[in-house]
Amino acid sequence: MKISWTHEALISNKSHINKNGVFAKRAIKKGVRVAVFGGYVVSINDLSKIQKSNKSAYQTILDIGYQVDDDLIFSPVAKTQFSVIEYLNHSCEANCGFVGEINLVTLRNIAKGEEITMDYATCITSKLFNMKCECAAANCRKKVTADDWKRSDLQKKYRGHFQPFIERKIKALTK
Ligand SMILES: [Zn+2]
Repeated sequence: MKISWTHEALISNKSHINKNGVFAKRAIKKGVRVAVFGGYVVSINDLSKIQKSNKSAYQTILDIGYQVDDDLIFSPVAKTQFSVIEYLNHSCEANCGFVGEINLVTLRNIAKGEEITMDYATCITSKLFNMKCECAAANCRKKVTADDWKRSDLQKKYRGHFQPFIERKIKALTK
């Protein structure tokens, strides 16, 4: 059974960012909810156990999961649970962001055929998710790190669309 809900205007297809990505079949306006994520809540402390007992679940969690707290990851654990939105890629110039923990909304108008993306800066604080980036955006940061959420340019860009636990951290920093 699919674990997430994906808007019917989205499809998965080949992407230049990663092998696969999510694309708009038609134009979508700013502020539209395009996905509601489902998943298992996995403690980062339990990951090494999972790595030993179920390698494919472990890899899925690292590939697809995002954080809902400093020590908690939200993720499907098997490919059979994927809907379209699980093929969502990171971009340093993302056109979607979070509202609350599980809703993904468009941050601007999306053109037909455009790839739907989010920025990992909005949902990671753990080095587990550090990665090289080849998104090819003009402002590509070349790598995605656990500290990206601390950048004031990104805080400004994605304000209101970080995971709530990161929104709270930013608020505490800027007080
Ligand atoms: Zn990039």
